[in-house]
Amino acid sequence: MKQMSFADAEHSENVESLYGTTILHQFTGPSSKNGGCFKRHPLLVFHRLEGAMKDMESKEETRVGNVLAGWNHLSIVGPVHIKNASGARVQVATGEWYDDYIMGWGSCLLGHDSTIIKESITRSLSQGFLQQYETDKHRLLSERFCAVVPCAEKLRLVNSGLEATMYATRIARAVTGKRMILKFEGHFHGLNDSLTWNIDSSPRSGKVLASGELERLSGTVGIPDEYGMLTVPIPWNDTHAVQKAFEQYKGDVAGIILEPVALNIGCIRPDEGFLQELRALTSQHGALLIFDEVLTGFRANLGGAQKDFGVVPDIATYGKAFGCGMPIAGIAGKAEYMDIIAPRGPVQVSGTNTGRYLSVSAALAIIEHLADGAVFRYITALESQLKKGLWDVFDKHGIPCYLDSYGGRIGVHIGAYERPRTMKEIEKLYPVEFAKKLFYMLSNEYRLYGFLMPLSYCPEPVTLSAAHTPRMIEDACERLNSALKRLRFS
Ligand code: PMP
Repeated sequence: MKQMSFADAEHSENVESLYGTTILHQFTGPSSKNGGCFKRHPLLVFHRLEGAMKDMESKEETRVGNVLAGWNHLSIVGPVHIKNASGARVQVATGEWYDDYIMGWGSCLLGHDSTIIKESITRSLSQGFLQQYETDKHRLLSERFCAVVPCAEKLRLVNSGLEATMYATRIARAVTGKRMILKFEGHFHGLNDSLTWNIDSSPRSGKVLASGELERLSGTVGIPDEYGMLTVPIPWNDTHAVQKAFEQYKGDVAGIILEPVALNIGCIRPDEGFLQELRALTSQHGALLIFDEVLTGFRANLGGAQKDFGVVPDIATYGKAFGCGMPIAGIAGKAEYMDIIAPRGPVQVSGTNTGRYLSVSAALAIIEHLADGAVFRYITALESQLKKGLWDVFDKHGIPCYLDSYGGRIGVHIGAYERPRTMKEIEKLYPVEFAKKLFYMLSNEYRLYGFLMPLSYCPEPVTLSAAHTPRMIEDACERLNSALKRLRFS
C-alpha cells in the first residue's frame, strides 16, 4: 500500500481512497446521523492509521508510537529519546544537551531536578509510601492551598488535569441539576470524552451555527457524537454567543468551563471585562463558573489567574505546576459546591492513586517555596527579556509577530500584526508551513527543544522556568536570528 507523507495527508481530500473503506471504519465507526452539527475527523483518522501501520511493520516495537504520551512524539522532528534532564536542559540519547522550552508542558516550573522537590520526596520515602492514607501533610497542603487560592474553601486531590476537569463538570451538573456545559473553542481541558471538542487537534475551527454555538468538531477519533451533545462549543471572547447559548438551552446550562488565559491557543487573554461578564451571566442563570487553572495555576502567582483578573470562579481545577513534575492535580471551590462530593455528598470523586503521599509532600514543599514570590518575580523578568528579544529578532527580519505571555509561557503568533481574539483568527493567520520549517531548524540544528513549536494550526507557548537563565534567553534569540537569516518568510 502506498505510504502518504504528512504533507500529502494534509492536502488529501479523500483519505478513504488511500486506505480503503473497511479499515477506515474500524477507526471511525459508522458515520454521523446528526446532520450538520458533527463532523468526522479525516486528518486524525489518517494519523492513527499511519501510526498503526508503522507499528505493525516494526514487529519488535512494543510501544504505540510512544508508550508515554502521543504528544511527546514531536512529529516534525521525529522521535526524540531523552536520557537525562537537569535544570532547564535535556540530554538526548546521542549525548547532546538541548535547552528545553517545553518543560513538562508547563509543569516543571522549578526545573527538571529541583532540590526542593527531591528533598521533600527523599524525606517522605522513609515513612513508607502511605498509599491512600490521609496524613498531616494532606491537611497542611489543603490549608495552604485554600489560604492562597481565592475560590478555594475546600480542595480534593486527583491525579491529572483530565480527571480534575471531568469531576468539575460532574460537580456543576450535580449542584445545578442541569446538563449542558459551555466550553470555548481551542480551550483544552484534557482528553475527556465530553470536553475533547473543538480543540487544536480538531481538523479545523468550527463554523458558527445559527444558534451562535459552533458545529461540534471532535478532537479525536473514538468519541461517539452523543458525548458532544451535552457540550456547547463557543468562540472565545464572544459574549453574545454565550448569551445566545443560555437562551438556546434555557434552564439547562450547568456551567461554563474555560482557561482564564487561553494558553492552549498560544496565550490569548480574555478581552477586557469578558471574565466579569461570564461571572455575571453564570450567576444570573444559576450555572457554575469553572476556571481550568491547570496551566495558569501556580505559574504567575499563588492565587492564579483568578487573583490576577479579580474574578472568582465557583470551581477551579489545578495540575501541572501544582506538582512541578510530580503527579498531582486538584479540584477546589466554594464549600457549598465542594461538599456535594462524597463522603459529605452523593458525588463520587475518588481513585486508587489519588493524593499519593510523595506527590502531596512535593506539592506542600512547592507551595511553601513559592510563598515569598521570588520565583514568580524571577520568571517574570526572564519572560520580559525573552519577549523583547523575540520582538527585536522578528522585527529585524521584517516578520510580523504578536506576542503575549502569562506565567513564563509566551505565545508567539508569527504572521499576526495584531492580537488574534479567537481560534478561527489564529487559524487564518498562523503560517503553519513556515512555522514547521523554523521549528525543525531550531530543533535539529540549534538544539532548542520545543522552541516555537507549532501545534496543528496554533503556536504552542514557549515555556520558561526558574531554572532558565538570562544567558540561555540571549542564546535562544541569537539562534533564532541565525535561523531566520536562512529561512525566507513569505
Ligand atoms: N487543562 C488544561 C488547561 C491543560 O492544558 C491540560 C493539559 N495540557 C489539561 C487540562 C489536562 O491535564 P493532564 O494532561 O494532566 O490530564
